[in-house]
Amino acid sequence: MKLSEKHKLSEKHLVPPFERVRGYKLPANLYSPNERKGGGLGIYTKSDATPINKGFQPIDLNSICLQNDVIDNAVQRSQIYALQDHFKELLPKERTSGCLRRRISVDDDVGVYFNTERKKAHYSNLQVCGCVWGCANCARRVSEGRRQELKQGLDNWKRQGGAVYLMTLTNPHHVGDNLKDLLYGQAQAFKYFWTVRKNRENFKRLGKVGHITATEVTHGVNGWHPHYHILLFFKEEIDYKELERFVGEVWQTACVKKGLKKPSLHYGCDVRDGVYASQYVAKFGIEESLGGWGLENEMTKGHMKKGREGGRTPFDFLRLSALGDEQAGKLFKEFYFAFKGKRQLSYTKGLKDLLAVDIKSDEELATETEKTSEKVRDLEFQIWELIKRYKARARYLYCVEQDCLFGGSHAHDFVMSLAIRDTEKIMNDDVHVWGYAGEGGLIPIFE
Ligand SMILES: [Zn+2]
Repeated sequence: MKLSEKHKLSEKHLVPPFERVRGYKLPANLYSPNERKGGGLGIYTKSDATPINKGFQPIDLNSICLQNDVIDNAVQRSQIYALQDHFKELLPKERTSGCLRRRISVDDDVGVYFNTERKKAHYSNLQVCGCVWGCANCARRVSEGRRQELKQGLDNWKRQGGAVYLMTLTNPHHVGDNLKDLLYGQAQAFKYFWTVRKNRENFKRLGKVGHITATEVTHGVNGWHPHYHILLFFKEEIDYKELERFVGEVWQTACVKKGLKKPSLHYGCDVRDGVYASQYVAKFGIEESLGGWGLENEMTKGHMKKGREGGRTPFDFLRLSALGDEQAGKLFKEFYFAFKGKRQLSYTKGLKDLLAVDIKSDEELATETEKTSEKVRDLEFQIWELIKRYKARARYLYCVEQDCLFGGSHAHDFVMSLAIRDTEKIMNDDVHVWGYAGEGGLIPIFE
């Protein structure tokens, strides 16, 4: 049998093991085990330099606590990167698939930095997508920025003696309803809601100065459940229960007018004061690790929260899809394309100035640079490709953190182990391809 062109060994196959990571040079006195006591970044713990067999050594609690923090961070980061990896498998052509993967400047290497304050490592020269709906990394960063903006705005407004209320609007929905259609209908009804003269006049009489709208969606036994959370800003405190009765009826009219099913007054509209909303949300304790949800958390992190009361969030679907749930994958895609390009929060005209908040763009929030970072090294193109190929972006950063904080050569060893695996894989693949090619059995590839 004659071998086809495509089965011929490419150049990369002919490079001996380890040679392909030849460019991987260690920064002197940072990773090299022989020199690690030199402490290139000046942040090694004392225990690193402590000779063994010195008898009883007191437990270094600081070191243990630090290690726990590093591990917590690493676990969180690896979940985020794993969701990104799965997004790429699901929707490879989307811009988000290149987030924290593609280089900004192809002429430069990917840089590795260590933030000495936060004790965290990160990459540089990588594109970020800024997409809050599909990218676990950007959703987190942007939402965190939005949360701070909201908090600042609420604080400023309250300091001026103003009052804030949370209004939630929703409408009936059923299994099988198309999310895009539901959103469109709801947006039409919402637009209409604000144009009803009586409604406008009533709000004006009460001293409303503006509102912020967040669109949120969960998925439960009745299918998709999109709804609006609206932060209402008033000059002073109002009777919000009376407001609820009034706007409930206007919302009913708006839904019917735009062809949606009429919501009940009980479920269609809900108005709560800021404190109650905060307690209400915190009671469900979805993300206790964040210290409980305040009003601003409910507004911005809606799609990231773990689903409650049997409902699931879009990121739950991405997680389930990564575990092999095909239906969850389809639902995630439906969500993603329905929300892609939408703003997470929208402020009414003039409100940003009244609240004295400086609103950044999604891209700005997603790309905020760390000011107290020190460069650890550059990753040559092949190394970066190797790290990406083995979905090891998170693991590599963890190794860098271990090296920077506790000494050692974890990062170097890890890359070498990837290189070995890669080489073995190539050998095995080639045996598979070539093994039955000749009558004489296996054709030796690496001699
Ligand atoms: Zn992103």
